[in-house]
Amino acid sequence: MLWQELGIRTCHDFLHLFPYRYIDKTTFYKINQLQNSQAEVQLIGKITQVKTVKQQRGSRLVATFIDETGSMELVWFKGVKWIKESLKINTAYVVYGKLNSFNNSFSIAHPEMELLSLHQKKVHSSMQPVYPSTELLSTKGFTNKVFRALMQNLFIQINGRIEETFPSSLLQEEQLISKSEALLNIHFPKSQELLAKAHTRLKFEELFFIQLQLLRKKLIRQTKFKGFVFEHVGTHFNTFYKQHLPFDLTNAQKKVLKEIRKDVASGVHMNRLLQGDVGSGKTIVALLSMLLAIDNGYQAALIAPTEILATQHYNALAAMLAPIGVTVSLLTGSVKAKQRRVIHEALETGSLHILVGTHALLEDKVIFHNLGIAIIDEQHRFGVAQRAKMWEKGSAEEAVTNPQEPQLSAAVKAALPPHMLVMTATPIPRTLAMSLYGDLDISVIDELPPGRKEVKTVHRYDSNRLAVFKFLKDEIAKGRQVYIVYPLIQESAAMDYKDLMDGYESIARDFPQPQYQISIVHGKMKPEDKEYEMQRFVKGETHIMVATTVIEVGVNVPNASVMVIESAERFGLSQLHQLRGRVGRGADQSFCILMTDYKLSEDAKTRLKTMVDTTDGFEIAEVDLKLRGPGNLMGTQQSGALNLKIADLVKDTAILTRARNRANAILQEDANLSKPENALLQKIYRQHQKKSGLWANIS
Ligand code: ADP
Ligand code: MG
Repeated sequence: MLWQELGIRTCHDFLHLFPYRYIDKTTFYKINQLQNSQAEVQLIGKITQVKTVKQQRGSRLVATFIDETGSMELVWFKGVKWIKESLKINTAYVVYGKLNSFNNSFSIAHPEMELLSLHQKKVHSSMQPVYPSTELLSTKGFTNKVFRALMQNLFIQINGRIEETFPSSLLQEEQLISKSEALLNIHFPKSQELLAKAHTRLKFEELFFIQLQLLRKKLIRQTKFKGFVFEHVGTHFNTFYKQHLPFDLTNAQKKVLKEIRKDVASGVHMNRLLQGDVGSGKTIVALLSMLLAIDNGYQAALIAPTEILATQHYNALAAMLAPIGVTVSLLTGSVKAKQRRVIHEALETGSLHILVGTHALLEDKVIFHNLGIAIIDEQHRFGVAQRAKMWEKGSAEEAVTNPQEPQLSAAVKAALPPHMLVMTATPIPRTLAMSLYGDLDISVIDELPPGRKEVKTVHRYDSNRLAVFKFLKDEIAKGRQVYIVYPLIQESAAMDYKDLMDGYESIARDFPQPQYQISIVHGKMKPEDKEYEMQRFVKGETHIMVATTVIEVGVNVPNASVMVIESAERFGLSQLHQLRGRVGRGADQSFCILMTDYKLSEDAKTRLKTMVDTTDGFEIAEVDLKLRGPGNLMGTQQSGALNLKIADLVKDTAILTRARNRANAILQEDANLSKPENALLQKIYRQHQKKSGLWANIS
């Protein structure tokens, strides 16, 4: 049961089941001091009355508990009969438990109870560990008390025989306590100070071995894979840069371009993550990088997650590249077979320079003459396998067997993968980026193009709808366009679709034709219909775009200045931020209106408030990280791999940096950990690698 519920199989696992907090049982509260926010409290008082209340199934026991300042209830749903018999009326108890509040009255369900007289006889450490558990375990009797007793037993049995995982030189230089001291103090803290040291030691260890794996993987990649060398900056790049660039690059764009140029000229293989908030101008950086490849005789590919986005990229690139004679084609699922054949051929002979597309571009039939750089837009929308596929497009003859674990692929021959530039508009906090993408190089565009006005964001309730519609009409009268977005959550696609259609009908009633024209785009439409509706909006023929989140990624319509998000509480922060990024792209003041019901969870309130308070993507990402934890951030499966036991990516930035630097220093000296002084590290490293095949899946 411990295995199923908590993943515990061995003593080692159990030792590494860390308390997630410590109870201070030296503090007592009075009933009139209780507040909603207090999670768990300890009180002294008496039970004055006990009654059994019948409920649908069985009954519950309710005791009235008082102290000199007020009264509250203690409640039991299980073991009612037995507990009722054992409770002493009008006798002083120490009561401990999780506080519930309802209509300003408080209660504790299944409290820990102890007679005050007994309580006073015991020694009370100020820090008692609380272990993570599950409901099933608690109902089966695995209470926290039992966990503590088991742990105590275990420590007696192993009697200090805990294997050290760091060489003593490292412990000394990083001023870390030993593993056995750390484990002892995390379970039975002798003092606040030792507990803190135990935390630091165990966090450092956890982060260190992750970084060691990531950095080693990067080293291997850099030595095993040579990269194409884009030696010169040629005519296409220069002509475009000097004569056709539609605007001056921001300093951030220039900085990133320099980083990319340095990579691709160096002979190593580029594997770079480009982060930049929505609207920061990643596309032009992608375009210029592709021109570098073309000037050196290579082809380039740009892949995007949706047909709408790929089409938009294609249109923009084709328009910009026509004057300099660079050829570009679009390949998506809806390209007809005949046209497809033309593209395939041009691609294989090399007469086609750039291929833009969706997943269709990854199919085996799509063979490049010599792909020099592959760019993945909105990379978090792609799976690991798809990104790996892109690597393979580099060489038609000898497929790279396993780019994720190159050290295992004896078959890696002269095959060169294309340089990879993966772009994301989901700002990833630095700490998370270091852990998730630690084996990639990271570039950040941390500056928006000049002249952007901050999007004004407000939160409105459904009851204000009339006022909101009036506002939309005013904006439309000024010549602006409006998005109205409905949630799309896959599990209930049918219901979402109904919501969308209901919404559309009500909007169509309030915005009657012919004065108002409305586009609608959703997942059930055929690609060509989607494209048609989208184009009507892009051209300004329609005033309102009613859509599901398909428009979330990347769509660029500068004249659209209002984003209305329906049922905004159902969206995650990063999605809200992405959606808001669809407006504020032109010169006009833009608005984002978050519509919700009155019923909102605490988290939803925080999300909405964050959106209203800031437009800074990194700030939003930090809040998101705090709310949801790294496991859920960005909604990607891969971040679930970050199953950290003790380190916290929000709070432990300093330790992470130290661990990374240390790991880096060691690998610089001894990339294979083969020196005698690194024997221990090598052994532990292997153990980690075996356990976590998962790290191989990231990049
Ligand atoms: P994203 O990073 O979200 O992909 P885009 O590349 O779509 O952003 O750029 C957003 C908009 O900003 C586009 O209309 C683009 O033409 C414009 N843009 C990009 N860079 C600059 C710049 N340096 N100066 C002015 N406008 C720019
Ligand atoms: Mg983009």
